[in-house]
Amino acid sequence: MLKSIDQLREEIVEIGKLIYQKGWVAANDGNITIRLGDDRLLCTPTGVSKGMMKPEDMIICDMQGNKLEGNRERTSEIAMHLTIYNLRPDIRSVVHAHPPTATGFAAAGRALNLALLPEVVICLGSIPLAEYGLPGTPALTEGMLPYIPKYDALLMGNHGCVCYGTDVLNAFFRMETVEHFAKITLVAELLGGAKVLPRVEVQKLFDARGRYGVNAASRIEPGAPIVAEDLTPRSEKLEITREELISILDEALRTRGVLS
Ligand SMILES: [Zn+2]
Repeated sequence: MLKSIDQLREEIVEIGKLIYQKGWVAANDGNITIRLGDDRLLCTPTGVSKGMMKPEDMIICDMQGNKLEGNRERTSEIAMHLTIYNLRPDIRSVVHAHPPTATGFAAAGRALNLALLPEVVICLGSIPLAEYGLPGTPALTEGMLPYIPKYDALLMGNHGCVCYGTDVLNAFFRMETVEHFAKITLVAELLGGAKVLPRVEVQKLFDARGRYGVNAASRIEPGAPIVAEDLTPRSEKLEITREELISILDEALRTRGVLS
């Protein structure tokens, strides 16, 4: 059954509260939209905390981003949402926020592209990093264009994260997976380095999507996700004291007759 616009307004309020409570936004950051039919969007207002919105704060705009209805002004990132809807007819909702661990990876210039966890490989494949672009301008989406058709979640360089799906809960869950994965990747690295799965296991996970009823855009590609075979083994590090090093050099030079 199709949901009414009032139900969808309530859904955005609920998801806004969740992303605020989870600490994925500060102050008035973030924005959420839902596609209404073919020609309109329901979107969050600018200048309001996403944790404190009311259903009547939502704005309806057309697919050029012009406001059609609403007392407030629409989000300043409407162009990014429109770009995603244009490139992905299957997408009905877009959620953008700044979840701190995933955004930390984006600020460090790192994609979340290691094959580490079955759920993440099945649900998202990997999460690419789109190049930085000035917010509120067309530059913001430029770096995202190659990735939007191929992925359902993106890191935005020096900025945050955007996820999209068949409804607002699906988009929200994708962001929850991204942030959870970012935390686990960070912990694995703090503990001495993540152990990446081999290609044969990663292929099995991609093949298992049908069994789990997962509809994801990403396909297995070289380097996305990074599998064990992609990583060159690190050379073994060994510790040696200054005295030991001098005695080894001394010995070597002596046997070659350089020193007597
Ligand atoms: Zn943002």
